[in-house]
Amino acid sequence: MSNGTGQSGGAAAARLAADAEALAAAARAEIESAADLDALAKVRARYAGKNGALKELLKGLSGLPKEERPAAGAGVNRIAAAVQDALDARRTALEAAGADEPDDPSFDPTLPGAPLPRGSRHPVSIVLDEMRAIFVRMGFDEVTGPEVEDAWHNFDALNIPAGHPARERTDQFYVEGGRLLRSQTSTVQVRVMETRKPPLRVFAPGRVYRPETVDARHLYAFHQVEGLVIDEGISLADLKACIRTFAESMYGSGIATRFRPHNFPFTEVSAELDVSCPACGGTPTGRCATCGGEGWIELGGCGMVHPRVLSMCGIDPERWTGFAFGMGVERIAMRRWALEDIRALEENDVRFLSQFA
Ligand SMILES: [Zn+2]
Repeated sequence: MSNGTGQSGGAAAARLAADAEALAAAARAEIESAADLDALAKVRARYAGKNGALKELLKGLSGLPKEERPAAGAGVNRIAAAVQDALDARRTALEAAGADEPDDPSFDPTLPGAPLPRGSRHPVSIVLDEMRAIFVRMGFDEVTGPEVEDAWHNFDALNIPAGHPARERTDQFYVEGGRLLRSQTSTVQVRVMETRKPPLRVFAPGRVYRPETVDARHLYAFHQVEGLVIDEGISLADLKACIRTFAESMYGSGIATRFRPHNFPFTEVSAELDVSCPACGGTPTGRCATCGGEGWIELGGCGMVHPRVLSMCGIDPERWTGFAFGMGVERIAMRRWALEDIRALEENDVRFLSQFA
């Protein structure tokens, strides 16, 4: 090809056409060897981009004689369109082949995924939810109250007067201002009686706090479920029927209940509450892990609401009577799974908790 001075317009047009052909050949080779979409995007920018080689080539048209420009321009545009088509075809092919995935022969996309480790519910939550479901079925409303209480709700309104040994500083977790961490969920029944009119039928699950020395059977924080029923003509027979219905729902029909006389300041009469051992049916042969050979397991305490408690909460004891009960949730969980150490429920060792999945 001539490169002398004074070359004719025809020679310049021919050189432009040859440059365009060479550029198109180089572009096609690079497009075909682009291994993935990233590499292809770089090739596209280099040839078909805003400042790409094809645009540079079009600028060469201005150096041609005016009458040759249309034909030469059409030629360059045809080549640009061909490069564009090749880019598009290669992209379609790469996408179809999943070119974004690493080329790993051991990777099989048809295999099911590896399962993620799954958590489990805490045994205390399992028992609490079962109790909750039973009481809701029996027509009880769920209520809650604060864990930091004043002396009125934790003691006075529950007929535990000033000077009572239960109010000793060593028997409670006191905080500032004479307030304390509640030692029982009975505080919630006081709050309900103060704010709602009877008839009442509520249960209150929650955490309570007592300065116990922690050992295999004691924690300083644990869960209770409190129940309260107030209506006209409520008697001890209603309490027994309620407890029996609950026990049969929790442990199955055939379970027996037993009341042992006891004393609580806020109930009169008061009783401790047992159910026959669900594991050995109440007739232990040898050493039953659930009841320890007793045949009975303790469920909690209960009684008829003390008339003084009713009047202190603004309810007329001449018209209304009621019963209350409290049950320890950790205790029920321990008996359910024959746990020997209550601390396992608080330590939250995953090896222990995963058994409840
Ligand atoms: Zn037993």
